Formats: sequence, structure tokens, C-alpha cells
Amino acid sequence: MPEPDRTMNFYSECQILLKNRGKPNAREIAVYKDGGGYRGLAKALAMEPKQIVTEVKESLLRGRGGAGFPTGVKWGFLPKNDPRPIYLICNADEGEPGTFKDRQIMEYDPHLLIEGIAIAAHAIGAKKAFIYIRGEFRWIADILEHAIQQAKADDQLQHVDIVVHRGAGSYVCGDETALMESLEGKRGNPRVKPPFPANIGLYGCPTIINNVETLACIPSIVEQGAAAFKQIGTLGNSGPKLYGVSGHVKKPGMYEFPLGTLLTTILDAAGGVEGTLKGVIVGGLSVPILKADEINDLKMDYDGCLKAGTMLGSGGIMVMNATVSIPQLALRTIQFYAHESCGQCTPCREGSQTIAALLQKLLKGRGAVQDIDLILDLCRRIIGLTLCPTGDAFSMPIRAMITKFRDEFEALVKTR
Ligand code: NAD
Repeated sequence: MPEPDRTMNFYSECQILLKNRGKPNAREIAVYKDGGGYRGLAKALAMEPKQIVTEVKESLLRGRGGAGFPTGVKWGFLPKNDPRPIYLICNADEGEPGTFKDRQIMEYDPHLLIEGIAIAAHAIGAKKAFIYIRGEFRWIADILEHAIQQAKADDQLQHVDIVVHRGAGSYVCGDETALMESLEGKRGNPRVKPPFPANIGLYGCPTIINNVETLACIPSIVEQGAAAFKQIGTLGNSGPKLYGVSGHVKKPGMYEFPLGTLLTTILDAAGGVEGTLKGVIVGGLSVPILKADEINDLKMDYDGCLKAGTMLGSGGIMVMNATVSIPQLALRTIQFYAHESCGQCTPCREGSQTIAALLQKLLKGRGAVQDIDLILDLCRRIIGLTLCPTGDAFSMPIRAMITKFRDEFEALVKTR
């Protein structure tokens, strides 16, 4: 097992998700328990499952995968008195470019996730839980297996069997419905929603799918109580959040702050911007870019980002200074999504390829202004019209890059 990379900058204001980061042997169960680990599970196992669901609902915890859906409400959607088995899936297929938060938890504090899964499984009545981990995280899958073995040997997992399942390198399998297809051994094509997985999920059974960071919040909610959790963050945006900061800052790394912390505070913690700020993408690559003059009062929570015309997404913050060419960024963005499109929906499959070709034409100096407008028109015809969010994931950022930095795209035409 490789040693943790202690060179990455990190800072934890909340002391919940990164509290064990940097401790020697933090992955070992003895160290985790010394720091109070598995106390939340012991408390949860003495509670009625319904009480835990109520506590999570009251905490107002929102899903940290990107959508921000209230976790307790999602758990409450499970059908009552249903004879089918219930499955819990931890979505650890962290594939969003600019996002490296879940791996921090799994790599440096695996028992925090295992404890969260064990509590969630008890709350929803799941006897089997899967961790669907992206294929590239091979060594992290080994870390999780080791942690599960330790937790089993310590009698923490008597009520649930946790299976680690490795993906095969597909971005789209991070979509919950494609993930279930893949887990069932099929090609990872997204399914139509509804039905939602809570009703018809894995193997046609009720299934709850939660992100790693979401599940890692559960032990603290149970141990400290919903009221304490709500004290962190802003109204309707409660709890701690991991913000991964990359790009043109002096100290790129992982930062844990309460939801709703100002973006400028997070950037200061990351050592400040290197050079003159041009733009920031705040929620992983799939959200609209913000210009330097749009970030001053930006609160990094679900509502604050929506108000600013973007989304919190995964909380992956990518900082760009004046040296960055936005048309080049647009090309790199679309090339990623064109490669990852599963091909099931025509607007996503053909649209991404066509936008890539048009951007390449522009960057080679062979484009016309009509090509820029054609890309915008294509984006308009893709947004909201694909089965999974991948179509939106490239149309929204490309549209924002062009509308906010149109002069850079037009300059490619003028200088042809
Ligand atoms: P969504 O809004 O469709 O659903 C959110 C969750 O709530 C899902 O689990 C869904 O099943 C559940 N849900 C919503 N309404 C429901 C209902 N009526 N009944 C039962 N369950 C219901 O969003 P999504 O498609 O799951 O996720 C999209 C997000 O994923 C994007 O915002 C994007 O930022 C993010 N994303 C993250 C990564 C990453 O690596 N973390 C990668 C790609 C995309």
C-alpha cells in the first residue's frame, strides 16, 4: 500500500472531514477509534432506524456529489413495507475534472466512510452496501478493502456486508443510473429517471445512492446531533464542505470550510491567486465559469452559487489567471466530454463532436463568427435534452465561456 502523499496542502476549519488528515497511521482502526471513531455507529445501532432518518432530515444535509439533494428526504423516499431487499451504494466514482475531494476521505480516513456507510445501512435497512469506486483509484480500493477487514474483525459490521466494486474508467458511470447498470455487469448506459433508484434501483430493488463526502458527514450528525450540524454553514446549506483548489493559486490543495464560506476566504487560505485573476470555475468543470468581477461576495454554497449564475457542484475550484486562453480551455473541456459521452443520446454524442470540430476550426484560424454562434445554438439544443446530466455538463460551461469571453473567440476570427 503506498504511503499517503503528505505534500498536498490541506486545512480543516470544521475538523470533521479532514480531522484525521496528517495523523500518522490515520488509516488504521486503532488510530481512528482513539480519535472517537465508531462512537457514532455505536449510538446509531442503539437507535431506531426511523430516528436516524429523522435526525439526518433535521440536519438538512444535502448531497455532496453535486446535485445538493436533501439526503434525509432521499432516504425517506424508500417504499414502506416492501418485500424487496434494500441496497445502499456509495458513489465513489469521482470523475469530474477538477474534483479530488472524495479520494481525500477514502485515502486518508477510510474508516470515516466505512462508519458512515454502516450507519446509513442501519438507518435504511440495507444488509448489503457497495462502494463503486473509479477504476483509476486502484490503490484506494485496496485501502478500503483493508479498512473493511479491520472493521469486520472489530465487529463493527455485523449488520451489513460492504463490497468494494471497481469501475472501468468511464466518467458516465458516475451518473447513478449508469453506475447501477455497470454494477449489474452491463454497459454503463444511463437509465431514464423516474423511476428513481429509491423505488427501482439495483437489480430492480429499492436503492439509496449517496456520495462519499455525504456519507462521511453521517457519523458526526448522529454523534453530535442534527442541531450541532446545522450550526455549521448557512440556513439551508448546513455542514462542512471540502473544497479542492487547483490552478493558479500559491497553495493548491484541499480545504474544509463550512458551506457558505466566501470564495475569497477559500482562495486566501490557498495562498491567493498567482498573477491576475481571469476566471474561476467553482464546482468542477461542468459548471459555468465566473469572471474575476463576479466572485467578490460569492458564498460557496448551493444557493449562493445559483444566485451567481453557476453551481456549487462538487466544490472543485479551478482558478485561472490572465495567461489562460479561454478558447483553448473550451476545446480541452469539450474534448474530455466528447471522449466520455456514452453515445446513447444523439445531442450529447453528435453535439460534443461537432462543438469540438468547430472549436478546433476556430483555433486553427479557419473559423468564422457564424461558427461561434453555431456552437451557442448547439449548446441551446443540448441543455436539458439528454438522459443524464453529461449533455448539460459540457453545454453549460461552453456557453458561459463563449458569452463571457466572446472577444477571445472573435479575436481568433479576426486574426485568421
Ligand atoms: P438529480 O438532481 O437528478 O438527483 C439527485 C439525487 O436525488 C439522486 O440520487 C436522485 O435519485 C435523487 N432524487 C431526486 N428527485 C427524486 C425523487 N423525486 N424521488 C427519489 N429520489 C430523487 O442529480 P444527479 O443526476 O444525481 O446528479 C447530477 C450532479 O452530479 C450534477 O449537479 C453534477 O455536479 C454532479 N456530478 C458530480 C461528479 C463528481 O465526480 N462528483 C461527476 C459528474 C457530475
